[in-house]
Amino acid sequence: MLEMKQIVKDFANCRALDHVDFSIAKGETVAIIGPSGSGKSTLLRCVNCLNRITSGTITLNGETFVDTPESGKAEYIPDKELRRICAETGMVFQHFNLFPHMTCLQNICYAPIKVKKEDKKKAEARGHDLLKLVGLETKAGVYTAQLSGGQKQRIAIARGLAMNPEIMLFDEPTSALDPEITGEVLNVIKKLAEERITMVVVTHEMGFAREVADRVVFMDQGKIVEQGTPEEIFKNPKSERLKDFLSSML
Ligand code: ADP
Ligand code: MG
Repeated sequence: MLEMKQIVKDFANCRALDHVDFSIAKGETVAIIGPSGSGKSTLLRCVNCLNRITSGTITLNGETFVDTPESGKAEYIPDKELRRICAETGMVFQHFNLFPHMTCLQNICYAPIKVKKEDKKKAEARGHDLLKLVGLETKAGVYTAQLSGGQKQRIAIARGLAMNPEIMLFDEPTSALDPEITGEVLNVIKKLAEERITMVVVTHEMGFAREVADRVVFMDQGKIVEQGTPEEIFKNPKSERLKDFLSSML
């Protein structure tokens, strides 16, 4: 469904992604693991075009959106193209980025109404369904400032789903939460995986990656060093770098 080839992303003084090939099939759950600074967030941000790639090719459902030669002309891709690919992805960040002056339902319905010009009634009906999905149907009229961290993140997930994205992207969705409430957020993500929503989850939760992911991708220094089934990655890591990383996570 999504294919990224030879993706390079340079910042002023570093190469965050170094010729990364990454693809995901419809219905697949991919977990990305790796040390801090290895390029995990940058890869997600390139998937949904929050970051412009320096060079490489991005194809979604057979349509090539971004195709730049090694010389790097990505800055010339029209914003219109970037917005189209962005609309096909839903992103959930470590810090929830909810609108505090809006209720839970308003947060969820904002983009469908404002961006997709959906009918308000229809958007709200779907909003209530999504609240139910994340187990917060009683919070529709509550301002998000009054929620706990775990509840905020579940609202952020519902808000991402409200746009019916082709792919949901999660960037360390539980790392800002207290350990005792990470479970409620991980359970929601697990439920989405069971419903075969296509997802990429950057996570430090090795147990979660092992249990939920169809495929685990290990990144280090801007490269995908190793990938495979949870069994292959966690039981039979091949590279020294992955072995070192896994023992550092114990
Ligand atoms: P991870 O999510 O795996 O911790 P990141 O993708 O955030 O890693 O970062 C990869 C590398 O890119 C790091 O060296 C980081 O400092 C650099 N980087 C990320 N974002 C920017 C930015 N906006 N400007 C400059 N350098 C950045
Ligand atoms: Mg990151």
